[in-house]
Amino acid sequence: MTERSVGYFCDKCSLYNIYALPPPETAGKCEHCGHSNEIRPSAAVLAGGPIDRCPQCDNLRLYHRKDFPQQLGCAAVTATIVLSSVAYALWHFPAALAVLVTASIADYALYHRLSDVTVCYRCHAELRGFETSVEHGAFDMHTAEEYDA
Ligand SMILES: [Zn+2]
Ligand SMILES: [Zn+2]
Repeated sequence: MTERSVGYFCDKCSLYNIYALPPPETAGKCEHCGHSNEIRPSAAVLAGGPIDRCPQCDNLRLYHRKDFPQQLGCAAVTATIVLSSVAYALWHFPAALAVLVTASIADYALYHRLSDVTVCYRCHAELRGFETSVEHGAFDMHTAEEYDA
């Protein structure tokens, strides 16, 4: 069983903190500036899910995404473009196609091995290691815009 944890951004300095569940006594205290952030994981969250609300801001709107490091994703895309361009220049179309196909198979394999992370639309808290709830869909741009406005 994977460890359950909550990642959140400090109210005061906006830096990222993470605590495991059940929350230790120090949970909520920012490791960067020492600010005490309020944490209030619901009973469902403490029990391992399905997650009903955000443990940091009580928001009910959450979404799932793959727990994929952003930088890695960009690097993979860039590498694919560069490699396929080089292959095209050197060996023309079939080689370029082979690079693209190989890259998408690799992406697919990687994607399915990644775990899910549930994210709060409002405060961007991240919940890992939970049973995911069907109520929370994939990221929705319109919902996100409502919160940014
Ligand atoms: Zn802080
Ligand atoms: Zn939240």
